[in-house]
Amino acid sequence: MPVWGVVNQKGGVGKTTTAVNLAAGLAIRGKRTLLIDCDPQGNATTGVGFEKASAEFTLYEVFADTINNPDDMTIIQKAVANVAENLDLLPSTLDLAGAEPLLLNSVGKEMILRDALAHVEGQYDWIILDAPPSLGLLTINILAASDAVLVPMQCEFYALEGLSQLVKTVEVVRRRINPKIHIAKVLLTMFDARNRLTQQVMEEVKDYFGAKVSNVVIPRNVRLSESPSFGEAAVRRYPTSRGATAYLEFVDEVIAECVVL
Ligand code: ATP
Ligand code: MG
Repeated sequence: MPVWGVVNQKGGVGKTTTAVNLAAGLAIRGKRTLLIDCDPQGNATTGVGFEKASAEFTLYEVFADTINNPDDMTIIQKAVANVAENLDLLPSTLDLAGAEPLLLNSVGKEMILRDALAHVEGQYDWIILDAPPSLGLLTINILAASDAVLVPMQCEFYALEGLSQLVKTVEVVRRRINPKIHIAKVLLTMFDARNRLTQQVMEEVKDYFGAKVSNVVIPRNVRLSESPSFGEAAVRRYPTSRGATAYLEFVDEVIAECVVL
C-alpha cells in the first residue's frame, strides 16, 4: 500500500491541486484512498467538499491524542470522513497550526504521524498526504510516514530555487528516520506551452531529476482552479477538461508504475 507525500516547501506550486486530484483520481480508478490534509490552511479539506465547521476531530486532535494516549488511538478512526466513493479524508483546520509546538515537546516528535497511520493503513490501497509550504515538523512527519515523495513544480523561473534544500531534507530523513523515503516523481504543473521560459524550465528540471520527471505535464487550466469552490476535485467535476484529463493520465502512470514495483 503506497503512502505518498506531496511535498515542496515553495508556496503555490500546485501541491494541494495535485494531492486532491491524485487522491480523487485513484478513487475513481477503484483504489480505496485516504487523503490527509497536513496543512493548517486546510485547502485540501475544502477542496473535497468537507465542511470544516462540522469537524469534531481533525488531524490536530490525532496528533494530540497520539502524543497523550499512545495506547488508545481511536481518534484517527473518528476523524476520518468519507467524502466520495472510495475516498476518505483526514481533515485539517487552522487548529493544526498548534501542532508544531505540541510536537516539539514530545518524544519521537518526527514519528507521531507514522504511529497514528499504523492504525488505519490496512484499510486503504493508497494514502496521499498534502504538505504545507515549509520544511518544518509537519513536513518531517510526512516524510517519516511516507514511502515516497511526489514533488509538484510550477514551470517558472525560480522553480529550482530551494530544491536542493528539499532534496537534502529527504536525504537526512532517509538516513536517520525512514530508510524507504525517496523522491519518486516530479510533476510539472501550470504548464503553458506557449511560454518559451516554460520549455527552458522543463529542460532544467529534467537535467536535475532525469527519469523521475513524469511524462505527463499538467497544463494551466481554469477548471482546476474553479473546482475547489464547488468542493469537488476537477477529475470528478470536470472530468473531460484538459486539466482533469492530464491528472487522470498521471494517475494511470502512477498506478502502472507502482504495479511494476
Ligand atoms: P500552498 O503552498 O499555499 O499550499 P499549493 O502548492 O498547495 O499552495 P495550490 O493551492 O494547489 O498550490 O495551487 C495554487 C493556486 O493555483 C490555486 O489557486 C490553484 O487553484 C491554482 N492552480 C493550481 N494548479 C493549477 C493549474 N494547473 N492551472 C490553473 N490553476 C492552478
Ligand atoms: Mg496547498
